[in-house]
Amino acid sequence: MRRIIVALIALVATFSASAQEVKNIIFLIGDGMGLASATMMQLENNYEETIFDRAENIALQKTYSADNRVTDSAASGTALATGYKTNNTYLGVLADGTAVESLMDVAKCEGKRTGVVVTTYLQHATPAAFYAHVASRHEYLVISEQLLNSSLDVAIGGGLAFFEELYGDAVAERLAAQGFALAETLDEVQNISADSRVMALVADKEVEVRNDGYLADATREALRRLDSEEGFVLMVEGSIIDGMGHANDAQAQQREMRSFMEAMEVAVEYASQRDDTLVVVTGDHETGGLSIVSCDADFCLSEQGVEYRWTTNGHSGTMLPIYLYGAGAEHINGVMENAELGAALHKLISSNR
Ligand SMILES: [Zn+2]
Repeated sequence: MRRIIVALIALVATFSASAQEVKNIIFLIGDGMGLASATMMQLENNYEETIFDRAENIALQKTYSADNRVTDSAASGTALATGYKTNNTYLGVLADGTAVESLMDVAKCEGKRTGVVVTTYLQHATPAAFYAHVASRHEYLVISEQLLNSSLDVAIGGGLAFFEELYGDAVAERLAAQGFALAETLDEVQNISADSRVMALVADKEVEVRNDGYLADATREALRRLDSEEGFVLMVEGSIIDGMGHANDAQAQQREMRSFMEAMEVAVEYASQRDDTLVVVTGDHETGGLSIVSCDADFCLSEQGVEYRWTTNGHSGTMLPIYLYGAGAEHINGVMENAELGAALHKLISSNR
């Protein structure tokens, strides 16, 4: 028994030491991004180094939800954001309805700034898991109200249509009443004082990514606004990787992956210039059951390249890689539950938990 207690104390000591070294977390989530998606990008790059190859540490996560072996983005987003598994469609609440604290709530308690940057609407499951508490991910108007009442400092994505449905012409006033400046383009965000909280609603719903650097630019702008003495947590989602997996469209998924990898470059570059920032990159689940085959017999068509073959129009239940860069990267290791990754991130930024 004494040995166990000593071991536990050692574990707590490790975490409190690491808590000091991780001031900032940039958490990049590729929605629907499995190992095959990252492999596809390496292959398309002729195996020259990609941002995935530069990872300083690697782990694996199991994605199943509390009520299904194949998760949706609400349950997996909740696990990653809160450290708890829940049922599919649930956001920020346990299966019994109990609300649980997200990484952004912990960051606020620690006096840090918080932000989310996405290519879908801000009310979509993955970003909403970081601020909302509701049993159905489809309650977009309820989620919009929770976003309005959230403590986020920066939110950049689509979703104007839901606010217009709620508030008509008075969206800017309603946001201002909660302390958010409204922007409708990235250029407008840049013109708003960096001290001001900002909500950029750059599209009605999804943001169209056409290799225009949107996600990288939005990530750069969020980092400029969040960079501070007290530190920050920023979640960046490559949201439409999932949609292209559902559509079984490898070319379109490559476009979304390139956009996500550009944002990864921005995050890793930021972290490489300092010693206090952890970058975590993973998916929330795999979509499409993508595999990379040469043909139906081994090695028979190597001279003709490979085929991207999909096995489902839905999600799959395979484990996902976690890529780690920067301060504290060595603290996340091994094969873990998605909720364990969420809990580890809570601990890394908590001073006394
Ligand atoms: Zn999906």
